[in-house]
Amino acid sequence: MTSWDSTFDVVVIGSGGGGLVAALTAAETGAGVLVVEKQALIGGSTAMSGGVVWVPNNPVMRGAGVPDSYEDAMAHFEAVVGDVGPASSYQRRQMFLTAGVDMLAFLQKLGIRFAYCRGYSDYYSNAKGGVDEGRAVEPAPWNANVLGEWGSKLQAGLAKTLGMAVMTNEARSLSNYNRSLRAFAVATRVALRTAGAKATRRELLTNGAALIGQLLKLALDRGVAVWTDSPFEDLVVSDGNVVGVRVSHDGKTVQVAARSGVLISAGGFAHSAEMRTEYGGDQPNQAKWTMSNPGDTGEAIQAAMRLGAKTDLMDEAWWLPSPRTGRFGASTLDQARQRPRTMYVDAAGRRFVNESNSYMEVGKAMYARDKTSRAVPCWLIFDDRYRKRYAHVRSHPGWFPKEFRDSGRLKQAASIPALAELCGIDPAGLADTVATFNGPAAKGLDPEFGRGESAYNKALGDPSRKVANPCVEPIDEAPFYAVEVLPGDVGTCGGLLTDEHARVLDQSDRPIPGLYATGNSTATVMGRHYLGPGASIANSMVFGYVAARCATQEAAANQDPHG
Ligand SMILES: Cc1cc2nc3c(=O)[nH]c(=O)nc-3n(C[C@H](O)[C@H](O)[C@H](O)COP(=O)(O)OP(=O)(O)OC[C@H]3O[C@@H](n4cnc5c(N)ncnc54)[C@H](O)[C@@H]3O)c2cc1C
Repeated sequence: MTSWDSTFDVVVIGSGGGGLVAALTAAETGAGVLVVEKQALIGGSTAMSGGVVWVPNNPVMRGAGVPDSYEDAMAHFEAVVGDVGPASSYQRRQMFLTAGVDMLAFLQKLGIRFAYCRGYSDYYSNAKGGVDEGRAVEPAPWNANVLGEWGSKLQAGLAKTLGMAVMTNEARSLSNYNRSLRAFAVATRVALRTAGAKATRRELLTNGAALIGQLLKLALDRGVAVWTDSPFEDLVVSDGNVVGVRVSHDGKTVQVAARSGVLISAGGFAHSAEMRTEYGGDQPNQAKWTMSNPGDTGEAIQAAMRLGAKTDLMDEAWWLPSPRTGRFGASTLDQARQRPRTMYVDAAGRRFVNESNSYMEVGKAMYARDKTSRAVPCWLIFDDRYRKRYAHVRSHPGWFPKEFRDSGRLKQAASIPALAELCGIDPAGLADTVATFNGPAAKGLDPEFGRGESAYNKALGDPSRKVANPCVEPIDEAPFYAVEVLPGDVGTCGGLLTDEHARVLDQSDRPIPGLYATGNSTATVMGRHYLGPGASIANSMVFGYVAARCATQEAAANQDPHG
């Protein structure tokens, strides 16, 4: 007989998007819920993120008058993700698409306000079923003062690091404030909102922090217990059923019973050098370049594996090509591949991808190219007009942070071959590539990769009407510059294999009773593609919602009607 220190209906491991949505969903049915979070701060990578959520045919986009349908979204999955195995089975796609709509409606009903990310296009907008205007939503700015003392337990969000109450779909305008009147107007709105919040002493959250803050507040109001500094250690199993967890809490190990189920929503293993080395496959990565939260170390996935759980897509990650400037999210160069007057090249000086495509696609292209010509790292090449013209959220045109210049990471030369020499790139190769690129680029064309042709490419490019192509112009104004680019990531996206009800499957594809998983702890329904902004948080939130629904419904069905 196991002796329990506490008993709940549902125990959730991890306080990110999937974990808190599940906690809230279960609590709404009257279930007793515990969330255990190993870090002192709540929210995981979700709180650090843009908080954008990609849900096709969602009520917010429909309300904004943008047409979509289940059929189009399913066709889009088929066209882009293709057959990638059971993580993205027809049944799981079907559940993602139907439960996603229900999940957003459920959160809206509880009072969370979402804004439609108009113009933040699907990443494969040109493929069948793609939507140019986009299918993503994000939380509206939210005053976190109502959280009281819990406010200090929230993982800091993107906007805080930028010092502005900026929404994610506004950020691209902020960094292009000098390139169009519309972008300038949006930047002004953000500045006024930030100043207004300061003047009225409101802790105005946006992005992932606004999402997590609201989920947390709603969960606390419904009696959900949240234990921080409480790492999950192992699953407790009885007769093959997961019946609880062992958790370190208040300095000792306690056993907590979970009458209806345990949900693993503990993120992936982006920071585990050991696991990434073991599972990296063709995309080797030793956890050196990840931007995910430090809790992403994979021990909950390993606990389920010890129990016989099946895994898939373990070599995959949400790749994010990252120029080595040392200031992620704050440099003019993070956006460079989407803007004109830039290109990515391998050690032979050759381009190998449409640089303006999705970050996951470009990251994967770096690894693929690296098999024949060194592209990990590859190089970002740009010219002096780029430097003079483009800003980013915290840097103005013509300005590179001093520490970045001093670091020696920025290479500069008077000619393209001289720049190549400095970087160890083949000089003749790079000179030929730039010359070949510049001819058509003068007319805004990229015959080799079609850069700037999709709505997605354009959405993140230069909004000025004066450029022929928002992503393409010649690289022809000396001096020329180069910076190494690494295949960073914002988390891994392979893990436990789950069915359409978010139940963890064993080696015979049978659900392990009592065990559910979502988010980066699982092999994602997105497979090896990132379908649109918010694809990863949506995966976590939707299957968290599904898991809680399933666990509480199964518990209700198993109750003795006469008992
Ligand atoms: C800067 C940045 C911007 C991003 N922007 C977006 C975006 O706009 N849209 C999008 O879709 N994706 C975005 N991403 C990626 C996205 O944030 C993650 O993929 C997603 O949030 C993962 O959600 P999750 O619920 O699986 O895990 P998380 O949100 O990371 O939550 C997992 C939690 O589990 C905890 N945990 C781990 N192990 C244990 C344990 N043993 N015991 C207890 N707790 C444990 C962790 O500490 C963590 O708090 C971004 C990521 C970053 C870093």
